[in-house]
Amino acid sequence: MRRSRMVRQTRTVLVAGGAGFLGSHLCEALFAEGHRVICVDNFLTGRVENIAPLVGQSQFRLIEQDICTPLELGEPVDHIFNLACAASPPRYQADPVHTTRTCVIGTLNLLELAVRDGARFLQASTSEIYGDPEQHPQHEDYFGHVNCTGPRACYDEGKRAAETLCFDYLRADMVDVRVARIFNTYGPRMDPADGRIVSNLVMQALERRPLTIFGDGRQTRSFCYVTDLVDGLLRLMNVEPNPRLPVNLGNPGEFTILDLAGLVRELTGTRSPVKFLPLPQDDPRRRRPDIARAKALLGWSPKVPLRQGLLQTVVYFADLDDTASVRSAA
Ligand code: NAD
Repeated sequence: MRRSRMVRQTRTVLVAGGAGFLGSHLCEALFAEGHRVICVDNFLTGRVENIAPLVGQSQFRLIEQDICTPLELGEPVDHIFNLACAASPPRYQADPVHTTRTCVIGTLNLLELAVRDGARFLQASTSEIYGDPEQHPQHEDYFGHVNCTGPRACYDEGKRAAETLCFDYLRADMVDVRVARIFNTYGPRMDPADGRIVSNLVMQALERRPLTIFGDGRQTRSFCYVTDLVDGLLRLMNVEPNPRLPVNLGNPGEFTILDLAGLVRELTGTRSPVKFLPLPQDDPRRRRPDIARAKALLGWSPKVPLRQGLLQTVVYFADLDDTASVRSAA
């Protein structure tokens, strides 16, 4: 009985962007559930070390490819998670046209693959589609406040266009699409040099450099630990019936950047001073998800408190950085 149920639930799952921070944790969780996992990645920001334990396993396949080129896998897939896109501002701004192409043409290519295979599809969208929000917290019905000509637009507008494609394929009954609007997520395997706030502050603290804060540090963010986020993505992919609506996934706990810096200093034991720098253009002032929809539809809410998740992250970065003394301080 149990055996036949397991066989029925075993799927072939494509994770685009599977060698990245979130994608590698997702690949691992799917693999642990017994699914065949195909990771497609162009290694723009992903790293093979992130998926090292999976490489060489018979139920794991790695394809190095840019999703801007149509995919021919040679085997059908049941589910497609589209996480392919650099998520950190310095990385996605380095080649903004490629970022827009990844979001629009890449998503279109994956949707077409889903049509051919009759696969279910989950799009990793982002809280950035709300821009610098005028509503707080951000509910999914809010249309956002995005500058379509600024340096962040390749990502923000690219992701908005990707959502448009997803909902058009859904309305046309071509693909069973689900859209997750992911808020700031952190944890082990974040790229230490990617310029995001958590990795910046932790690395600066570990290396005893000044902690750089943009603006006055009173702007707020919410921080979701990676295992909570992956749990939300899996629930959204598997929930019946299809919500047919975007779903915010993030941790509603709201912290100022100064709060975060204080916690990082405490967990690393650093005495590094704080250094204030000018706020970058279009940087949002406040960001906090309204997760009522995720709670109601998926029974999901984050479990890992910031202190606990940050400690795991500090330990991971300390190992990378070889700053062994910090490990004991943490
Ligand atoms: P990441 O940069 O670590 O991972 C992105 C992965 O996609 C990398 O492995 C990269 O090499 C790959 N990639 C990029 N462009 C590609 C292309 N054209 N073809 C194939 N592969 C490509 O970022 P992440 O933090 O793991 O984010 C994953 C997804 O989740 C992204 O789509 C991002 O927009 C979304 N997201 C993340 C966060 C967050 O806080 N981490 C927040 C909101 C949304």
